[in-house]
Amino acid sequence: MNRRIVTIDDYEKHVGAETIARIKRKAEAVKDLRVVNINSTYYGGGVSVLLGSMTVLMNGLGIETGWRTIHGPPDFFSVTKKMHNALQAGEMNWSERKQEIYEYVNYENAIINHLTHDIVIVHDPQPLPLINHYRKIGPWIWRCHIDLEQPQGDLWSYLTRFVDQYDAVILSNEAYAQKVNTPQVFFMPAIDPFSIVNCDMDDAACEERLRHYSIPTDLPLIVQVSRFDRWKDPEGVIEAFKIARKEVPCRLVLLGNVATDDPEGPEVYDSLLSNESDEIIIMSQQDGALVNALQRKAAVVMQKSIREGFGLTVSEAMWKGTPVIGGNVGGIKLQIEDGVNGFLVNSVEEAASKLVTLLQHPERYEEVAVNAKETVREKFLLSRYVEQYLDLFNSFETAFKLKMPHK
Ligand code: UDP
Repeated sequence: MNRRIVTIDDYEKHVGAETIARIKRKAEAVKDLRVVNINSTYYGGGVSVLLGSMTVLMNGLGIETGWRTIHGPPDFFSVTKKMHNALQAGEMNWSERKQEIYEYVNYENAIINHLTHDIVIVHDPQPLPLINHYRKIGPWIWRCHIDLEQPQGDLWSYLTRFVDQYDAVILSNEAYAQKVNTPQVFFMPAIDPFSIVNCDMDDAACEERLRHYSIPTDLPLIVQVSRFDRWKDPEGVIEAFKIARKEVPCRLVLLGNVATDDPEGPEVYDSLLSNESDEIIIMSQQDGALVNALQRKAAVVMQKSIREGFGLTVSEAMWKGTPVIGGNVGGIKLQIEDGVNGFLVNSVEEAASKLVTLLQHPERYEEVAVNAKETVREKFLLSRYVEQYLDLFNSFETAFKLKMPHK
């Protein structure tokens, strides 16, 4: 095997020796803690991408960090997807039946998970009620990745009975802050520059991936890489492309996948297929190198979401020096400064007109691409995210008298 496990030292070339030394000092202070993360999918979506890289880095820093995924029948994931939608300002009728499924499946998962760790980190609403079933021996953290700018009131007030039992809540954006008793901290997610999706890839390798999937490169490529989810507004991307295409030759590639905890994905994918043509390619492939190649070869990457907790795909494309047009919402606004390192749009028409300008005058935007990469280096690499977790773990030291080996 040629691939090596990534450690924090690998980040030195991007963030400098001083930062790495500081992170190691902070890790030393909480070394030998046993930490576990729990979410609801091992594949598909940013949370699993983050956990995959993050847990390995933490272990390399001497913190025994595990990752569990809760299990449940399709009805459970149907309820939790509706819940996800309602927390992102969608509509939902929160019934007793849904509540029963939600709480019962969490109870089952509590029985089989044996969480005896010093710190437990629960991701998103699916496993939130697990906390009801344990006697805490250390802090429990709820890490919510969703855009919580306008959660549905009834649902949110039901969920606070669980949230209030946690010792800290991590949200991606200060704009998502809620009225809860638990202290809230704000960490933006970040990307792993060494993953298959983000690692260096030369032009020949990118061309090879595109050829493998018969994606022609004779026209400039507009690309959106996203789970098939209405919040990512794939229909809006297609509409914007069709308008722009009237003025400038180009081709659209929508590459998507479906998370194991998202039962709506296949339906969204099917609903898009009638748009397929020579110039609109809609693909569902599980291939990280293809994501990497498309984000590099694109003339423009779009992430025209209507709601977006963070949107790792934005930083992924910016890291590759590709101009990004993003929806002016949630976490995308945290990554893109309009006109400086990318572009923010509020409508299909605005997206189309921005596409046309970018395709007609790419030379005007070279600086934007340079700024994009530098923004990610400064703010959105995983070393920063790891350090924020370490700060949080260290802050629990006095409150919980965690078993600190050096004390
Ligand atoms: N992704 C992928 N293949 C796909 C679509 C998405 O590997 O076909 C990856 C993408 O590169 C990113 C993650 O899945 O790392 C999606 O995270 P993001 O935060 O953008 O959105 P989420 O799905 O969590 O809403």
